[in-house]
Amino acid sequence: MNHVSNIFLYEGPNSPHAFDVVPLQPRNGGLDAMCPLCKGRGQWNTEFDLVSFRCKRTACDRCHGAGWVETGTDPIGLPDIEVSPEGYPRWTIRFEPSDTEVEIDPAQPGLAKT
Ligand SMILES: [Zn+2]
Repeated sequence: MNHVSNIFLYEGPNSPHAFDVVPLQPRNGGLDAMCPLCKGRGQWNTEFDLVSFRCKRTACDRCHGAGWVETGTDPIGLPDIEVSPEGYPRWTIRFEPSDTEVEIDPAQPGLAKT
């Protein structure tokens, strides 16, 4: 079947429309501020088909897709996979030290500075 498409490519999170149809990520309670790079979305469009609205997205490497970042010294939990004692893969939470260089911009409370 012939598929009509009009693909738009994005340079990165600063491209206009990079966040079109990308939902805000729910705050999980453990993280403090909206990610300055993806503005709380955790991902952005890299390709967008203006005809079908199909898109390709990339995860934000600043917040690992969570949309939110830690501003204090609490460790950050990231979903991961490990091998259980029975030899099967299973989901787990891996903790990494937080990036303590994050600051809150007083002009934009809730949004971390880059
Ligand atoms: Zn982010």
